[in-house]
Amino acid sequence: MRILVTGGAGFIGSALCRRLVRDVGVKVLNVDKLTYAGNLASLREIDGDPNYSFLDADICDRTAMEAAFAAFRPDGVMHLAAESHVDRSITGAGEFVATNVVGTFTLLEAALGYWSKLDASMQDRFRFLHVSTDEVYGSLGSDGLFQETTPYDPSSPYSATKAAADHLARAWHRTYGLPVVISNCSNNYGPYHFPEKLIPLIILNALHDKPLPVYGDGSNVRDWLFVDDHAGALFTILTRGRLGEKYNVGGRNERRNIDIVRRICEILDRLAPSSKPRETLITFVPDRPGHDQRYAIDAGKLEAELGWRANETFETGIEKTVAWYLSNEWWWRPLRERLYSGERLGLIKAV
Ligand code: NAD
Repeated sequence: MRILVTGGAGFIGSALCRRLVRDVGVKVLNVDKLTYAGNLASLREIDGDPNYSFLDADICDRTAMEAAFAAFRPDGVMHLAAESHVDRSITGAGEFVATNVVGTFTLLEAALGYWSKLDASMQDRFRFLHVSTDEVYGSLGSDGLFQETTPYDPSSPYSATKAAADHLARAWHRTYGLPVVISNCSNNYGPYHFPEKLIPLIILNALHDKPLPVYGDGSNVRDWLFVDDHAGALFTILTRGRLGEKYNVGGRNERRNIDIVRRICEILDRLAPSSKPRETLITFVPDRPGHDQRYAIDAGKLEAELGWRANETFETGIEKTVAWYLSNEWWWRPLRERLYSGERLGLIKAV
């Protein structure tokens, strides 16, 4: 099997490439333009593997995408390339519209051009998995879960552009017959997560004795999934999902942000003791505009139809994650130094 992965140098994409190449044994072409969020160090474990190759290219570049399809001849696409950080989308939405909307359109067009010229047996095998987020559904109240049928109601520029991309992907299936499947996943966490995101930011700030910024009163609820469980779900959906369908992915791990931060403090106090409890570093900061109150996923369709189950609970996954950051300073130290020098990455204002 030959899979073209977009965004494979990012957090989830790199977990996926490592899994596909190392554990599943498929051939992967990773197409990534290496924005601030792309990091080839996350792929060190598979660099040099004959089943893995990398193309530095922008998904908005139609010529480059057509050439990639023609040269690699994939029988599957897993499309993860995106601008993904909600806070950045609030201060600069243009890149989000370009990559998430125009880039997805460009990739769908290149895929369609390639697929329409395949012979019938290759056409039957081909799949295009569009990877998306539960944020397209907007915010939940204190009860209920997102179903695949929940109407789209995005709140941020990030989620609005992802919603637009989901609609494009589905339209390319309904209108042109491109064999598309869509996944909508809850918040991911785990190793190799860029240090601007909540969980790595809290771990690394706590280790450096810096304030632990928490939006509002910390009561916002997210549903967390360990990144390797997401990678497994994506391969299951690509290979066995029904065409034209969408599948919600989540681990039934709803947590309030403040409880996540406290849990990380407890684990760090145990694994890397400090002179004062890390909880004393918690600092509440003004809430993000348009901050959704609660996300929670019903993954029942994926579980019942395709037999997928998450391996990690939040408790086991967060222990592994904190332990990984403690023993992999080589990976995060250079990123953190660039974040705080402001070079190319922008500054984190809250710390
Ligand atoms: P990320 O920001 O860590 O990685 C994105 C990758 O895409 C980077 O390697 C970047 O260089 C690349 N990229 C960006 N623009 C590009 C372009 N124009 N051309 C080629 N490459 C480009 O993101 P992530 O957290 O790994 O998320 C991956 C996907 O999963 C995204 O589509 C995101 O919407 C979705 N998703 C993420 C989460 C989450 O919690 N992180 C949850 C659900 C869904």
